Amino acid sequence: MSAPLLQLRGVTAYYGAIAALKGVDVDVNAGEIVTLIGANGAGKSTLMMTIFGAPQARDGSIVYDRRDITRMPTHEIARLKIAQSPEGRRIFGRMSVLENLKMGAAVTGFAHYEEDLARVFSIFPRLKERANQRGGTLSGGEQQMLAIARALMSRPRLLLLDEPSLGLAPLVAKQIFSVVADLNRDEGLTVFLVEQNAYHALKLAHRGYVMVNGKITLSGEGRELLERPEVRAAYLEGG
Ligand code: ATP
Repeated sequence: MSAPLLQLRGVTAYYGAIAALKGVDVDVNAGEIVTLIGANGAGKSTLMMTIFGAPQARDGSIVYDRRDITRMPTHEIARLKIAQSPEGRRIFGRMSVLENLKMGAAVTGFAHYEEDLARVFSIFPRLKERANQRGGTLSGGEQQMLAIARALMSRPRLLLLDEPSLGLAPLVAKQIFSVVADLNRDEGLTVFLVEQNAYHALKLAHRGYVMVNGKITLSGEGRELLERPEVRAAYLEGG
């Protein structure tokens, strides 16, 4: 079996003296959708950010495509075809949709700009209609689409998505998950997804991990985790 595209081993991360990650092991194989679920404050966003080098892992290792990226600066990691759509989306509010997408294409030196623009507009027709609108005036769902589209403009092999459904109406969240599934199925895009919306995220995922208090406590196939009583009790029932 080939090595995982992304492999974390014993990763710790700290904010000052406080440990936010306490020895995390995660594998993401090429072509998979892998989901990480967990309650507020479990350390999910920190894990995403640590993969990108800020904060840097204190112990352990992060290997991407057989390269050790544990101590690599963030701007170098971005060049390795890893793209991130962070929590809170962080699009450029004063820039137009088109300008935001250009920022995503900058990583590749605009090598396939027109082609990639046509592609993201076909995935998200709404963004095409709003190409000249300022990012900050888009709806929550449109901003999420823009954040994902911007990440796709860099032609990633691995897409890291931090809570793409946060604050979205259920129908819009469903659309976003369906785009992620299409990208994975049709283009083989590998996705590592952090979500509080455990039901949809685990249904979508080939495999999943549960994080509690900076540690992975459970892992397995997405649909199998959905059936686990401890997952149902903590993340699904009443939700
Ligand atoms: P949520 O689902 O609420 O976004 P999360 O699982 O993504 O939660 P993190 O944002 O990774 O959790 O936070 C993990 C822990 O680290 C929390 O206790 C949080 O308060 C703490 N933390 C996060 N960012 C910082 C920071 N910049 N400085 C200090 N502590 C932080």
